[in-house]
Amino acid sequence: MQKPMNLNIEDRFNKKLPADPILENHRRQVFKACYSFVTPKKTAAPKMLHTSPEVLESLGISKEDAESDTFLKVFTGNEILPNTSPYAMCYGGHQFGNWAGQLGDGRAINLCEVAFNNNHLALQLKGAGETPYSRTADGLAVLRSSIREYLCSEAMYHLGVPTTRALSLALSGDQVLRDIMYNGNPAYEKGAVVCRVAESFLRFGNYQIFVARKDNATLKTLVDYTIKNHFSHLGTPSKATYLLFFEEVLDKTLDMIIHWQRVGFVHGVMNTDNMSILGQTIDYGPYGWLEGYDLNWTPNTTDRQYKRYRYGAQLEIGLWNLHKLANTLYYLIEEAEGLETILRSYSAKLKVRYPQMMRDKLGLFIKNEKDTELIFELEEVLQLTETDMTIFFRKLSDFTTANKSSEGLTIVADSFYVLEELSGTTKDRWNAWFDTYKERLQRETASNAARKQKMESTNPKYVLRNYMAQLAIDDADKGDYKLIDELFQLLKKPYDEQSENEKWFAKRPEWARYKVGCSMLSCSS
Ligand code: AMP
Ligand code: MG
Repeated sequence: MQKPMNLNIEDRFNKKLPADPILENHRRQVFKACYSFVTPKKTAAPKMLHTSPEVLESLGISKEDAESDTFLKVFTGNEILPNTSPYAMCYGGHQFGNWAGQLGDGRAINLCEVAFNNNHLALQLKGAGETPYSRTADGLAVLRSSIREYLCSEAMYHLGVPTTRALSLALSGDQVLRDIMYNGNPAYEKGAVVCRVAESFLRFGNYQIFVARKDNATLKTLVDYTIKNHFSHLGTPSKATYLLFFEEVLDKTLDMIIHWQRVGFVHGVMNTDNMSILGQTIDYGPYGWLEGYDLNWTPNTTDRQYKRYRYGAQLEIGLWNLHKLANTLYYLIEEAEGLETILRSYSAKLKVRYPQMMRDKLGLFIKNEKDTELIFELEEVLQLTETDMTIFFRKLSDFTTANKSSEGLTIVADSFYVLEELSGTTKDRWNAWFDTYKERLQRETASNAARKQKMESTNPKYVLRNYMAQLAIDDADKGDYKLIDELFQLLKKPYDEQSENEKWFAKRPEWARYKVGCSMLSCSS
């Protein structure tokens, strides 16, 4: 039989792991199973809005196939590929610090896995209808949040941040009711479906759920499966391998969050069900980009009170989440010591890797014992007055040893929102910081050009500022989808100078300061 779109389907998850025996699509608690079979919902009037050429290529889908009716139907859930059995995964999670019980793919439906060019990728629709895990919600996604996920996951990839990717963005043609700010003002919005792609969508919560249910057997089956299929270099699963596995998850999680800190990305909902076992950024919900550098900032209005997932807490929360994963793996290892040693290594690794990342941002090649002070003071001065993070670091690469330190502030002037605030002690502290930075640069042996190059490949020029995504959303709501493509193209080369795109290298406009969607986002998507 001819394979539609020539996809080389090689399902593993739903072939090798235990399935929920119930096939009806109604809400339920699912036991002793990793997933439930489910069929995506047919949609009223599907329309493809955008596809990622690179992701198409990584799956072996030609441009022609991507424009076909089959492609549209498959990636909006209206047609099932032959010999595939879509399913929703069962997982639990700690939400905002509390165990929340069974969550699961409430609106994500895995279509199949594709093997192509040494890649083995899972394809998952987000917003394709109800599943046994939909709880009280509708299984759907709205256009605004789908645009945000689609653009941001691809942008993160090009920034070099580990992430799930996106194949396609489509309108479902259905209307979806949402109360954006949870304030009693529900309204209909356009529904959409994104097809996400990753080597695996497994989360910490996929393992945790079995401990909550005292089901060590299925836990072992899933952990062994994960090691064999995604961490095969660690060897045959055993208690020793479980520790190596945990250590690698810890390493990857830490590295991912350090990347977030580097580019100013705030995930917004670092619940354990949103932590990928592969250390990839997953579930783009109420995320945001730091504009004014502020360790206390979170885009998520649901977290406004305690700011648990604020920018400055992300690294700490990563460790908290890893503790929960360790508690889970303990049931297989039955000894705490090894896990505790690995958990303790987190802060030691952080103390090395975080300053290294910051040295890269500052263009420093040589390590110096005083770097931590230089970095800490910078994080303080950046918060004295509203300072755009992206512009600051990008402009800082124009500061050289030939400059007087008092010229530093002029060189980075574009990054400040209110220049008049740079007076008195604020100005003094900045000048003092530039004094130390200049002294530090003078100890470097690399040329100014080499430093600039290092800084420009670490500090992006273009990120998906919150208001940029919102502009694309506002246009899309009116039926104009051009900006989606413009931003998609822009963010493919975030470190390059793009003279024709200079308008996107600018501080957030004032209108966006308090606008819903730009500075305030909720989980309602
Ligand atoms: P999130 O905060 O987006 O990570 O979602 C937490 C849980 O709620 C996950 O189990 C999601 O699948 C589920 N969920 C979120 N939105 C919906 C929705 N519209 N319909 C069904 N389930 C949802
Ligand atoms: Mg989630």
